[in-house]
Amino acid sequence: MGTTAPVDLKDICIRFGSIRVLENLNLTIAPGEFLVLLGPSGCGKSTLLNAIAGLLEVAEGEIHIGGRNVTWDEPKDRGIAMVFQSYALYPRMSVRKNMSFGLEVAGTPKAEIETRVQAAAQMLKLTPLLDRRPAELSGGQRQRVAIGRALVRQAGVYLFDEPLSNLDAQLRAELRVEIKRLHARLGATMIYVTHDQIEALTLADRIAVMQGGVIQQLDTPMKIYREPVNRFVASFVGSPA
Ligand code: ADP
Ligand code: MG
Repeated sequence: MGTTAPVDLKDICIRFGSIRVLENLNLTIAPGEFLVLLGPSGCGKSTLLNAIAGLLEVAEGEIHIGGRNVTWDEPKDRGIAMVFQSYALYPRMSVRKNMSFGLEVAGTPKAEIETRVQAAAQMLKLTPLLDRRPAELSGGQRQRVAIGRALVRQAGVYLFDEPLSNLDAQLRAELRVEIKRLHARLGATMIYVTHDQIEALTLADRIAVMQGGVIQQLDTPMKIYREPVNRFVASFVGSPA
């Protein structure tokens, strides 16, 4: 699997026109860490994740992945793989093709692609579904395919943007367990965006609680829950501070 990599965000500023969404944001994520960005809708979580992925330009600051300054690199050259909330699967392609397509475009040898797809499918219980199309899958199965498509990249860093938000509570609980198992198995760095406190508390090594483009607290789930630094963190994480 891919080599795990640290992520270092230095004085990141992002503006849309005259609106400042992120201002001087600093965050260092250790290799192999599971870091959750937690905050209410509109606080800048996706903006930050998209900037790390290279889908969005920073106005100022630097993004380092694996010790390399990737601030101006194309998304494909950053050593990351991303899972979106909307799945973003290709409707006309089979599950197998959805997972292999990106590797084919990148020129990965066929045998290597097959090995990786089989391994990812097995990890995500997708093996019996490889020849189906997305329309023939449940929401939970589709999200598994979206995760599988990221896994075959064998990246050092995985980015998740609210991957479970479209699923019902039962499936969310199941996939939480699977994502945690994947993290343990791959040892890769994971940055996981959510507005769901339970997800954050159960998945994270550390949680960055965001409000209005600012990280209010960066700590372990236990610390965030027991010792929130301010009223916002206390009310958002739901502890009785
Ligand atoms: P979150 O993911 O935490 O819900 P976002 O990162 O999507 O929040 O958005 C943060 C803020 O930036 C919001 O106020 C949103 O309206 C604004 N925003 C996001 N994308 C754009 C854009 N392309 N143009 C203008 N404003 C944007
Ligand atoms: Mg978002």
